[in-house]
Amino acid sequence: MPLYSFHCAECDKDSELLMGFSDEAICPACGGKKMQRLTSKVAPDFKLKAKAKIWRAAAEREGHTSNFGKGEK
Ligand SMILES: [Zn+2]
Repeated sequence: MPLYSFHCAECDKDSELLMGFSDEAICPACGGKKMQRLTSKVAPDFKLKAKAKIWRAAAEREGHTSNFGKGEK
């Protein structure tokens, strides 16, 4: 299961939680459910997106874009 960082809006604490697909994020400190996921700490999304952009540009230059599209937001 992936580990995510969350920020609790109720007690203002950050926590790391293991999340399954259907799990609800609940603050371990106060039990609150107003958890905001912090993606920047654990998963550097923006870096991946920047890399995907480079890969896509390279693929377009080479004329094959079939690796991209499905599942990409
Ligand atoms: Zn809390």
